[in-house]
Amino acid sequence: MKIYTSHVPPVHIPDESIFTHLFGTRFNEAQASRPAFIDAETGFAVTRGELKELALSCAWGLREEFAKLGGVQLSRGDTLMIFSPNTIAWPVMLFGAVAAGIRATLANSAYTPREVEHQWNDSGAKVVLVHPALLPVVLETFKGLGLSPAQAKQRIIVADWKVSPETKWSGDFIRLTDILGKGIFRVEEKFAGELSNETAYLCYSSGTTGKPKGVETTHKNIVSVVDIVDSFFTPTTSQDVMLGVLPFYHIYGAVKLLQFPFARELPVVIMTRFDPVEFCRNIEKYKVTFALIVPPICLAMAHHPAVTKFNMTTLKFLFSGAAPLSGPLVNAVRKKLATVGADVYVNQGYGLTETSPTTHLLSLEYSLSKVGSVGQLLPNLEARLVVDDVKDAKEGDSGELWLRGPSIMKGYLNNVTATENAITPDRWFKTGDIAIRDKEGFYYIVDRRKELIKYKGFQVPPAELEAVLLQHPAIVDAAVIGIDSEREATELPRAYIVHAKGVKGEEAKKFAKEVKTWVQKRVAKHKYLRGGVVVVGAIPKSAAGKILRRELKEQAKKEILTE
Ligand code: AMP
Repeated sequence: MKIYTSHVPPVHIPDESIFTHLFGTRFNEAQASRPAFIDAETGFAVTRGELKELALSCAWGLREEFAKLGGVQLSRGDTLMIFSPNTIAWPVMLFGAVAAGIRATLANSAYTPREVEHQWNDSGAKVVLVHPALLPVVLETFKGLGLSPAQAKQRIIVADWKVSPETKWSGDFIRLTDILGKGIFRVEEKFAGELSNETAYLCYSSGTTGKPKGVETTHKNIVSVVDIVDSFFTPTTSQDVMLGVLPFYHIYGAVKLLQFPFARELPVVIMTRFDPVEFCRNIEKYKVTFALIVPPICLAMAHHPAVTKFNMTTLKFLFSGAAPLSGPLVNAVRKKLATVGADVYVNQGYGLTETSPTTHLLSLEYSLSKVGSVGQLLPNLEARLVVDDVKDAKEGDSGELWLRGPSIMKGYLNNVTATENAITPDRWFKTGDIAIRDKEGFYYIVDRRKELIKYKGFQVPPAELEAVLLQHPAIVDAAVIGIDSEREATELPRAYIVHAKGVKGEEAKKFAKEVKTWVQKRVAKHKYLRGGVVVVGAIPKSAAGKILRRELKEQAKKEILTE
């Protein structure tokens, strides 16, 4: 068996909780008064010391005050959902839950009630911390679940702390500000030794196949990834400022953006959503030096006129992840930023929700010579490139990337079959991505073996969209694939559907258009069928009934040329 390791020696990883690690072991008291997070819109800042106090106060509020006010009792080991776009309350809520020993399941803030319902039921969440603007989604979800208004109120905490005054909401609910500042957890819940293998976060990922599943990310997983990445990441100084535009509900944002203020003492400027003008304005306003991004943001930076309207010269480093970043795009953005006097390294890393996430990073010195590579394997991790689920790929050939190490998830929540399909008995995790490793140990992701589609870094599980399509009374079969859009630097979901009455020609085109709109009412924005809807006579399938997605992908390539 050919096992690859990192060229960097392993680092020691303590068996402790995320909270103990970031606010104890790695906490620099001398830097406690420096800002950890800054709200981009208002400039409101929370220092590291304040955040520690706020999180411990939130922990007290969740465990002690909420029940006193009529909410359900939360205990160690329970699960809490956070349903909010990025706000400055996010680190308080997440670290509050962690300090209280409560698992946090992070829900995409674009979710519709149908999607929230799946995650709520599957994760077994008892309470939701919800941004005021998303309250109607939660109320509809709870109504659909048959909860009475009184039962719904017992399960809701409105995350009103420091929300923009324009945010309108109504109703008599327990609020975050009702439970914050009422008391303090003197010592966080400990997860020492074996207990560090208890689940801390439950993000949702469809993995290689099927619908979204709860990824059990443990305290140990996060502590490992923080220290592993830190041993490898570009050196930073006290002048560095990071722009936090990635969503905290995705593992990439939840781990990276929340770790930097502690592991590296960099303040993170929090943006609620990506907007090219605001992105550039904030770089100027906060003298941003680093930004963690996804490829479509890179594309915007390569072309948007805002880049020339603001002072970009402080920017040193754009770090992309969650989806493929092409060499030409790296060159285009570097060239554009050079025209406004910014000399910026553009790099990428690789990982999955299931690997907490980062397993590969391209370090600064190779950003030009190895452009297009996701970089080298990080320490403490082992990799294999496997063909047909058994054989090692020949040196230099492609194979499915299998990974092993302390940052690999415990498994999928309550789903033994999916866990066994993803993790071998000797703990190799099958990524579903096809990679090549060059002679110097740099990895390139060249294809995907799994069904997953990624729209601008967000997961679009085909099986989920297919299930939605099959709910349409006139659709008898459906398949969803991803098509590449160079213009948008992302994949786009495209559906093939079979009409019960076999409509053709103009009628079929009209029906396809109707279906596109029909789907938009039922799924979050990133799952819209932007790649098109095509009515076909039959979906190509194998003898075993599996959708032949490769065949559809080839078909789509030809169709797109004539569309
Ligand atoms: P997620 O769990 O949402 O983070 O999605 C993980 C998947 O995103 C991986 O299995 C890859 O297919 C894809 N991915 C993440 N980073 C990269 C990258 N740098 N290049 C290519 N694909 C990537």
